[in-house]
Amino acid sequence: MSETKKTRTEDLFSPKGMRDIAGNDYYRFQGFFEKAQEIANFYGFEPIETPVLEKTEVFATGVGEGTDIVEKEMYELKTKGGDSLVLRPEGTAAIMRSYIEQGMMNRPQPVYLYTYGPYFRHDKPQKGRYRQFYQFSVEILGKTKSTLDALVIYLGYKILEEAGIKDVSIKLNSIGDKESRTEYLRALTGYYRKFVNQLPPVDRERLKKNPLRILDSKEEKTKELNVNAPQALNYLNPVSKKHFKEVIEHLDELGVPYTIDHTMVRGLDYYTHTVFEYFATVSSEFGDGTESLALGGGGRYDYLAKRLGSKKDIPAVGMALGVDRILELSTTDLAPRIMKKPKVCFIQLGIEAKTKSLAIIEALRKAKMPLFHALGKDNISSQLAQAEKMGIPVAIIFGQKEAIDGTVMVRNMENRQQKTVPIEELAEYLKKMKI
Ligand code: AMP
Repeated sequence: MSETKKTRTEDLFSPKGMRDIAGNDYYRFQGFFEKAQEIANFYGFEPIETPVLEKTEVFATGVGEGTDIVEKEMYELKTKGGDSLVLRPEGTAAIMRSYIEQGMMNRPQPVYLYTYGPYFRHDKPQKGRYRQFYQFSVEILGKTKSTLDALVIYLGYKILEEAGIKDVSIKLNSIGDKESRTEYLRALTGYYRKFVNQLPPVDRERLKKNPLRILDSKEEKTKELNVNAPQALNYLNPVSKKHFKEVIEHLDELGVPYTIDHTMVRGLDYYTHTVFEYFATVSSEFGDGTESLALGGGGRYDYLAKRLGSKKDIPAVGMALGVDRILELSTTDLAPRIMKKPKVCFIQLGIEAKTKSLAIIEALRKAKMPLFHALGKDNISSQLAQAEKMGIPVAIIFGQKEAIDGTVMVRNMENRQQKTVPIEELAEYLKKMKI
């Protein structure tokens, strides 16, 4: 028999760029999602959950070749049946796929949807960048109205504000409709062609496949060239100009702060008209400076549906927030509603008491009395110390004698007074204590 290789625990640790989310971190995620849902729900958005896996083409044709997401970052797998599936790298294309598949065009328009969950990109992990990360997103499908663009931008802004992110800035731009975008791309390509010898290889490649992406290049030489590059706003046709003007008017009316940024185009093939990103200022990792951290972004994508095989265009607009980053920045208490600060600490002593404990705890759960127990512990002083440490105002002590008598000892942790109370009167007694 061959000797099996001994597994080392560290060989099984979570994959690079992916992590466990537990304890208080988990509650913060849950609390954030609860808050974001509450706001989205108020504004008439409905929940939707699409599969984590989609057919590769949903993103390959939807998001577009020539984007990092599709070309470098997708986790792709072949199923045993031979299908090619990917772990979703973003949400928009999947939501549009679902709108088409579910025939949502037959419902009153527009359709307001929100979703949240994990997304996957095989990027280089670093602070604030994971391979499995979480987004909360909203999408409005079925109408072209500029009010909807403003609503989406506003909603993201409000969610960030409620999550305790201070000084959010919004960068805004428009790349117009198909006609304007084609004109603009022509001008942009013409411009960079003139400087092709100065372009670094990565941007020369982008010039062939997706010239818009040159505008958010990290290469110093390209950044210099970008200063004088043609600006999308100068290529908007009258319809696109009107749309953008209306979006801006809405945002001004709503008091949402924004700056127009000509280099912000969001690189994905499906964007049209309005594009935007949310930023927060954070202290930079190196030295004492500050830098901008992208917390979310979105835009209008009126022509995505046809890329996914729809006969008709389906106008739509949406945004996604990066939840991992928001929670890393936020100092607000984001406890979810299920989290209740314990008001009583249940302390038990001896085997007799232990077996009867769960019935008492369950009665207090029914009476909606938030409780902390230490059933795993035997020592009374360590249980009391725990109650003290957690600042729990009342302890219930249930020992051998009480178990036989059918009573408990209720101890006020502040003044240390104790009273014996029959088990069947306990819930009522605690309520009267008004803790
Ligand atoms: P995007 O649509 O790609 O701009 O993503 C929207 C937001 O999701 C970004 O602004 C980030 O806050 C967040 N995000 C995107 N990729 C990652 C990642 N790999 N790790 C953590 N957050 C991410």
